[in-house]
Amino acid sequence: SGKLLIVVTPTYNRASQGYYLNRLGQTLRLVPPPLLWIVVEMHVASAETSQILVDAGVMCRHLVCNKNTTNVKDRGVHQRNTALEHIQKHRLDGIVYFADDDNIYSLELFEQLRKIRRFGVWPVAMLSQSKNKAILEGPVCNGSQVIGWHTNEKSKRLRRFHVDMSGFAFNSTIIWDPRIWHRPNSDAIRQLDSVKEGFQETTFIEQIVEDESQMEGLPKGCSTIMNWHLHIESRNLVYPKGWQVPKDLDAI
Ligand code: UDP
Repeated sequence: SGKLLIVVTPTYNRASQGYYLNRLGQTLRLVPPPLLWIVVEMHVASAETSQILVDAGVMCRHLVCNKNTTNVKDRGVHQRNTALEHIQKHRLDGIVYFADDDNIYSLELFEQLRKIRRFGVWPVAMLSQSKNKAILEGPVCNGSQVIGWHTNEKSKRLRRFHVDMSGFAFNSTIIWDPRIWHRPNSDAIRQLDSVKEGFQETTFIEQIVEDESQMEGLPKGCSTIMNWHLHIESRNLVYPKGWQVPKDLDAI
């Protein structure tokens, strides 16, 4: 056994939801326990999602976020906060990882997560369908020391840390026991819905670490890709006429 991994996944109903959640569930099932999968939906816990979680055979909690929001740009922000509140309230002691439902994760990643003391970070490959290329986002390291950042998108140069939402993880005690880490600010650590597109990760991380010296680059040298972020928007898929099924496959 080893340290508890607390994997947080916001999810919502769309055609590819069953595909994504089954795929992620089967990956998590291969990770040696202890692992807790916190899956958060908006407004209702759907029976279809519950069934996938049961079938995955992974220890999990199925939470609901009741925040009223109409902002489509929030994309999982309030759901992740529901999970953070839960971790804080129940003093869950482990490594917190935001695993979006649509990404692909290697088993090595979960092995590496258990090595994190305070805050771990690594490069993620973003694959763009339309541009047919991979963009790296994340740290450049010397051993486990972070010495720079991969960044390609001009508009995002102003970000303090160039990290993907699924490219970092941290010790949960940071959010419920600030004394352990001598964190000066003891305000609740949350994701904010007020930040500009592309700045969600850096704004969140700036609440947890002061600078690169408090980060651990994984694995040593940060030269291995352990997870991939695909930009495939199922909403924009073109279906042949008459082939479209209801949003939720189980509802047929
Ligand atoms: N998500 C959600 N509700 C939404 C949009 C997104 O729960 O309205 C979840 C989604 O299931 C995924 C995460 O938030 O786990 C990130 O969403 P997405 O990959 O669409 O955002 P992107 O990474 O493209 O910004």
